[in-house]
Amino acid sequence: MPELPEVETVRRSLEPIVVGRTIIDLDVGSFASVLGTISFDHARAALVGRRLTGIRRRGKFLLIDLDDESGIEVHLRMTGQLEVADRGAPPLRFQHLAILLNNGLDLRFADQRKFGRVIIHDGDPALALKSKLGPEPLETDFTSSYFQGVLRGRTAAIKSLLLDQRLVAGIGNIYADEALFLARIHPQRPGGSLAAVEVDALVSAMRDVLGSAIDQRGTTFRSYRDGTGQAGENQHRLNVYGRGRRGEPCFRCGTPLAYLVIGQRTSHFCPECQPLEIESR
Ligand SMILES: [Zn+2]
Repeated sequence: MPELPEVETVRRSLEPIVVGRTIIDLDVGSFASVLGTISFDHARAALVGRRLTGIRRRGKFLLIDLDDESGIEVHLRMTGQLEVADRGAPPLRFQHLAILLNNGLDLRFADQRKFGRVIIHDGDPALALKSKLGPEPLETDFTSSYFQGVLRGRTAAIKSLLLDQRLVAGIGNIYADEALFLARIHPQRPGGSLAAVEVDALVSAMRDVLGSAIDQRGTTFRSYRDGTGQAGENQHRLNVYGRGRRGEPCFRCGTPLAYLVIGQRTSHFCPECQPLEIESR
């Protein structure tokens, strides 16, 4: 499932190819709900003739800005892919939408599971996300003191809190597990029980795992590709995600890794490096 590094990689790969181009037509397949509640005719009227002025990312969402101050919000969700291809190239597998550009390329949206959406907004698409998304770990305003304030008094598991997009935007199951491992924090610890030094470690671990995953152009297990169809490389760098279920040894201490289901999500961790019971300080 694409998280912040994957969506950012899609954004970076598309930006030089699509920004400045004009939309000449739309093509929608049999799954019309890809456009949410608006009709194909409405979408076509809104988009044809518009020039793409920018492509931004907020949390796990892509935002395409148009020259009339409107925009498009793209949710990749579980298996969504947004890719450019030559107009004559065969459609992607599970392709639901093509935005035809004036440089002979199509911006195509494919999605096997059909949870993804391409939503057209009359105004700035970022406004719709404002109340749903908290700050992002790679932004300067995401400080340890901000995050300490967020966690104070919380009894929910830290793993679940990291996945709450209103508190931290952009983190999903892979990077939550990886950050908790680096910070040596058990995923079931109540958020409010973390000491200041642990919150510091977790904030810097989130930055490390997200930053290096962007450098590796994202994690590809199955469907994730960047905007030109290339797989990422970060799957070779994971310390715990996916390895806990197989009981593979911790790279740090050699102990077999473990997993637990927390809030319906599988959490991979090292029982030795990430103890649940912390000796009293
Ligand atoms: Zn370990």
